[in-house]
Amino acid sequence: MSTQFPPNMSEKTITNKTVPKKETKLITIDGPAGAGKSSVAKQLAAQIGFYYLDTGALYRTVALLGLKNQVDWNDPAALVSLTQKNLIDYRAGRVYLNQEDVSEQIRSSEITFLTQYSSKNPAIRLLMNDLQRKIATTDHFVTEGRDQGSVVFPDAFRKFYLTASPEERARRRFKEQQQRGENVDYQQILIDINERDYRDSHRDVAPLIQPKGAIIIDSDGKSLDEVVELMKRHIEMPD
Ligand code: C5P
Repeated sequence: MSTQFPPNMSEKTITNKTVPKKETKLITIDGPAGAGKSSVAKQLAAQIGFYYLDTGALYRTVALLGLKNQVDWNDPAALVSLTQKNLIDYRAGRVYLNQEDVSEQIRSSEITFLTQYSSKNPAIRLLMNDLQRKIATTDHFVTEGRDQGSVVFPDAFRKFYLTASPEERARRRFKEQQQRGENVDYQQILIDINERDYRDSHRDVAPLIQPKGAIIIDSDGKSLDEVVELMKRHIEMPD
């Protein structure tokens, strides 16, 4: 089953400095870390011919920007100012910082940790909401994150909340990291997942919640294909 993006996607360049407009259809997927949102969103988008937007990648890129510039993490305004002065692009499912493809760099555990500073910063969130809405006006999108159906796109065509138990999510992370040949400790992964859940759902701005009107899908014991099929059935249902 293909998870490739439609080929013309590569022709689109969306940046935090452009404002394209078009009537578009949106499907949002929110949920906690490790629930499988990225894989599900990519596969769903490919199957229904929509583009895919990974909004976590944008917050990670802001954290990378801060790290590269040795920002003072205790100075939220400094991170905002840096974000305003630099260019973040998102195209073909990849994220660019000042034209450099940083899609791999943003996956390090250091960036995963530092992303809390971009995601809990209200002014950064406003900038990212703006960027996400600009991107979404260019075509039909499946977007995934923590606040897509609750804050950024409350009027989306379909809103999903994808979840799974912390133990199931930790098991999946453990398997993925083991397959990459990393030295992993299941208990530590479980602790990290629980901590991230706590931070994501207790922060002051845009905490992780089940969006109003969202279709809740628990992926425990379901394969990727089963989750995508279930979503497609909901998408095809009349309103
Ligand atoms: O989904 P991913 O793990 O890449 O997201 C990285 C971090 O970015 C999450 O822990 C979350 O705090 C934050 N995030 C967010 N809002 C989004 C997407 C991600 O706050 N829409």
